[in-house]
Amino acid sequence: MGIYSSLVEIVGKDRVSNSAADLYLYSRDSGAQPPGRADYVVLPKTAEEVQKIVRLAGSEDIPITPLGGGLALSALVVPQRGGIVLDMKRMDRILEVDEMNRYAVIEAGVSQGALREYLKKNHPRLQHSTPEAPPTATVTANTLIQGHGHISPRYGVNSDMIGGMEVVLPTGEITRIGSCALDRKWFTRGPMPELAGLFVGWYGTTGIVTKISIKLFPKPAFREVMVFQTDDIDLLPEAIFEVMYLDLAEDFFLITQEKPDWMNHAFLVVIVSGHFKEEIDFKKKVYKDLFKQFKGRKTIQFVEDLHPALEKRFLDVPPLAALAADFRQGGGFQYTGAILPIDKVPEAWRKGIEIAHRYGMICSYVHQVLLGNSIMFGFNYSFNRADETDIEKAQMALADSNRVTLELGGMIWKGEKPAQQMVLEKMDPNTAELIKRVKGLLDPKGIMNPGNWERE
Ligand SMILES: Cc1cc2nc3c(=O)[nH]c(=O)nc-3n(C[C@H](O)[C@H](O)[C@H](O)COP(=O)(O)OP(=O)(O)OC[C@H]3O[C@@H](n4cnc5c(N)ncnc54)[C@H](O)[C@@H]3O)c2cc1C
Repeated sequence: MGIYSSLVEIVGKDRVSNSAADLYLYSRDSGAQPPGRADYVVLPKTAEEVQKIVRLAGSEDIPITPLGGGLALSALVVPQRGGIVLDMKRMDRILEVDEMNRYAVIEAGVSQGALREYLKKNHPRLQHSTPEAPPTATVTANTLIQGHGHISPRYGVNSDMIGGMEVVLPTGEITRIGSCALDRKWFTRGPMPELAGLFVGWYGTTGIVTKISIKLFPKPAFREVMVFQTDDIDLLPEAIFEVMYLDLAEDFFLITQEKPDWMNHAFLVVIVSGHFKEEIDFKKKVYKDLFKQFKGRKTIQFVEDLHPALEKRFLDVPPLAALAADFRQGGGFQYTGAILPIDKVPEAWRKGIEIAHRYGMICSYVHQVLLGNSIMFGFNYSFNRADETDIEKAQMALADSNRVTLELGGMIWKGEKPAQQMVLEKMDPNTAELIKRVKGLLDPKGIMNPGNWERE
């Protein structure tokens, strides 16, 4: 039997395609990386279907590329060597919300928007850490790529929020990780050997996660935004340190854009939240006082007349901070997500402006402060996807900002293939060898998202 017929036998005709139109769409994403080649698209509904697909792929030596929302933008879901794109979106059930123990168990295709709306309606006192990504991004893939959400400055990156997992291994076994491997509660992934780490940060090269338990957090009744502005970039590390040291912010991000002129400053956006109005008033006063005479100077100012439209966008969950991005005609967008130490912010800021100007772009940044000791520093590039030259410029700008990130001692988050090559080259050879060995152990046939996390 041919591959297509075997796939139909597993999931039914409606959930397999090899039509040219579908394959075109599944062979690319909206970032600046070149397209790949999908041969089949399959949308499983159960872990057992995933298991059968994986076994088929293993016996036929066909690559599998898992796909969530496809919004990581760095071609992590673009098949490098053909094969099956496994679109997880039909696995979209929210299986359980345990209010008392504050977690939700969901299937891998549940989107950010779906979980957010479900919680709002059924568990209004709880929330999950929501990235600024479009609402169709999946909760699972976001945790697997070590994403971050609107409460990350307070509670940690989203991979820290995994309480358990169900994974189909590349060899076909269905495995459980965390307390759900022992009992029916999915409340914690330890204490036991940290197996979740075998699937977090691997870009789908070690297995297919079919269910996940995600931690939920209190949802305070009141939230307000405060915006401060400065032109003294060198003050930013200390300003970030002090805001985080006070430990009163729910979210904290920095934005800037060269155009329009009114945005050409560094804006520090601090979201404060609380269960009581008095708590909010107190927090706001503390932050206002902090910047009144910051380091004996008046160089960081409170923005008194924040436009109501901006206030609403910042307060939305997730916030629309990417409004600072220079979105252009043609819809292309990609960024180097540099995870940097706080003290490197001014240098990265200046170098980012140089890079943008080198390729005829205006500079726009969105940075989220993570837990106080690092920042997700987004070197944003938008481009026209119908213009080859524009795409090339974006690729070169990405290469330059990836290089700068590594020179500054940073890490590249969700890097595209050339970025992964740079990281592997710089990495301690024993670490790179360990990555290779773990991959080989879990995926002896090399069928899982090949081309990623491997040296050319
Ligand atoms: C405007 C904009 C703003 C953004 N802001 C943020 C932000 O604030 N925070 C943030 O974290 N991200 C942000 N992102 C980046 C990205 O969109 C998100 O991280 C998103 O959650 C990725 O999820 P996805 O479902 O689209 O993943 P995909 O792109 O579909 O997949 C990402 C990786 O995970 C693998 N994968 C997918 N599903 C599985 C599975 N079930 N098992 C194993 N591997 C799997 C894929 O193969 C791929 O390697 C933003 C993107 C845009 C466009």
